[in-house]
Amino acid sequence: MKADPSSEPEPTNQKPETNSGEFVTNSPGETFAFARKIGEQLTGGEVFLLKGDLGAGKTVFAKGLAAGLAIESSEVTSPSFTLINEYNGRLRLYHIDLYRLEAGLHDELGLNEILDDGQSVVVIEWAERLGFVPARATMVELSWLSDNQRTILMR
Ligand code: ADP
Ligand code: MG
Repeated sequence: MKADPSSEPEPTNQKPETNSGEFVTNSPGETFAFARKIGEQLTGGEVFLLKGDLGAGKTVFAKGLAAGLAIESSEVTSPSFTLINEYNGRLRLYHIDLYRLEAGLHDELGLNEILDDGQSVVVIEWAERLGFVPARATMVELSWLSDNQRTILMR
């Protein structure tokens, strides 16, 4: 797939440091807008590891990121059966959901190649099932605060 490795840009795996911190959103729309703003700043190579219980807002966050990359967010649904969905916007976005991942199947998913792609953005739901932490990934922990409120811890 990769023709001449010497002509490939170096994978950058950038981590947007300025987004670190703890935030509270008061509606799904706020979580979406928060992630969209982050998405607008991305330049490729960023990896987001989303953690949080069912209904915490991981998919809402992923949709917001997609919107920030000029991807139609209504097309972004949890890739439950395929595990990986790929969208092309301002940058390519890989949306991965590991909820149904069977242990030890990482290799077959081709995740390492995706994570090394310095030109794409990767967002992974249920990232705790990855079993390893990709280099310079941004951790995003979403937790339930009240029916309409979520805490978003980014580090
Ligand atoms: P997950 O992917 O983590 O399982 P989803 O993003 O699919 O969760 O769903 C989150 C649910 O929580 C949605 O039904 C959404 O409307 C609701 N919700 C309520 N308040 C918020 C909020 N502040 N941020 C995100 N989602 C919220
Ligand atoms: Mg989800």
